Amino acid sequence: MFDKILIANRGEIALRVHRACKELGIRTVAVHSTADSDAMHVRLADESVCIGPPPANESYLNIPAIITAATVTNADAIHPGYGFLSENANFASIVEEHDICFIGPTADHIALMGDKIASKNKVDELGIPVVPGSEGAIENIKDAHAMAEEIGYPILIKASAGGGGRGMKIVHKKSELEGSIKEAGTEALTAFGNGAVYMEKFLQNPRHIEIQVIGDGKGTVVHLGERDCSLQRRHQKILEEAGSPALNSNVRDNIGETTCNALSSLHYRNAGTVEFLYEGGEFYFIEMNTRLQVEHPVTEMVTGIDIVREQIKIASGSDISFSQNDITFNGHAIECRINAETPIDFRPSPGKVSTYHPPGGIGVRVDSGLYSGYSVLPHYDSLISKLVVHATSRNECLMRLNRALEEYVINGIETTIPLHQEIIKNRDFVNGDYNIHWLENFVETR
Ligand code: ADP
Repeated sequence: MFDKILIANRGEIALRVHRACKELGIRTVAVHSTADSDAMHVRLADESVCIGPPPANESYLNIPAIITAATVTNADAIHPGYGFLSENANFASIVEEHDICFIGPTADHIALMGDKIASKNKVDELGIPVVPGSEGAIENIKDAHAMAEEIGYPILIKASAGGGGRGMKIVHKKSELEGSIKEAGTEALTAFGNGAVYMEKFLQNPRHIEIQVIGDGKGTVVHLGERDCSLQRRHQKILEEAGSPALNSNVRDNIGETTCNALSSLHYRNAGTVEFLYEGGEFYFIEMNTRLQVEHPVTEMVTGIDIVREQIKIASGSDISFSQNDITFNGHAIECRINAETPIDFRPSPGKVSTYHPPGGIGVRVDSGLYSGYSVLPHYDSLISKLVVHATSRNECLMRLNRALEEYVINGIETTIPLHQEIIKNRDFVNGDYNIHWLENFVETR
């Protein structure tokens, strides 16, 4: 097992990784920008190293500074968290070249899954159902027209190197196709440095359902069931639940098994999430994330498995601590992403938190780096807290979540707590009757 892990991240996820390390008896090194020197992850870590000024490009994405920090502190592994460098194959290679263990998959697997076209073709070959679409990047307009006719409008143009829900264009009819492809290509080049775009069928009313997996790199892959992440605004997840109100255990077992079989033949290592759209009883692969996911706690609550602990153990060479037969799903869990944003029009709301009082009690988990007096910074993501609630049934979970949201005090800045309070009282949501467009409509019409 490792002696010391450097956590190449900030905020709640740096804290989450720190906690798993402590429970394994591992010392931690925090890295931080000059703006984050008072952050909770820095305060709790055994050691900390300042790696640069506030802009992420100069600190949390600064590979030489992070490698230097790991070297001078003698860290034997790096956990990247999510976002920042977590899906950067180059970073994973550089870490390993410095004889430091990267707590994640191989660089090859990161690169494969980071390329949306290559990953889609690969998983298709391995038996995972994919969204009907072009097999490769769009090469010319004539072929694109032919392809769009075959798939049927509406279609979606997506960037091969895309991420974070950016760079997607819906095309409703033939006359819009050429312009949309050009626009998407230019945007993709600017945003991701790669202008390749592809097309797929635009599914009208799907749910976003994803399967959590853990692989040991030797061919064993276990799934931990699904999360329903259909509640999205601008393709960003807002609230997630496990299990999905739309699945039964047979459907879950089948898609879980298909996913595990495919990833087992790849010898996938690390936690990972395979994302699907689910419509008309069918699953359609959209992408795989080769890292810890923001919403992993709902899975931990229903399975009782500490996913970060497992990532660390596997990276140190251990086998997975459980087999598929050991996994049971208990009760229901919901996570609310609480952002420092105005709840009506979602403008960023950075600033000083004057009073902070998180909810507690049975079945309530809060993953957050906030404290009274902490200043939410304008430089980074607006996610400031994840409120995760677990109960024996979905109804009890909703009652508990309502009570926990009422208890939650974050004064001094605006947050999306009131939005969550509205969502969970809505009849459609209570009935589990929603899809990926539901939240956008809800926000526009309330
Ligand atoms: P990103 O990596 O940018 O997050 P994804 O491929 O994961 O992109 O898609 C993000 C979201 O966009 C999905 O959760 C879904 O809401 C929507 N989406 C993606 N592909 C399709 C599709 N073919 N039809 C309808 N919606 C889609």
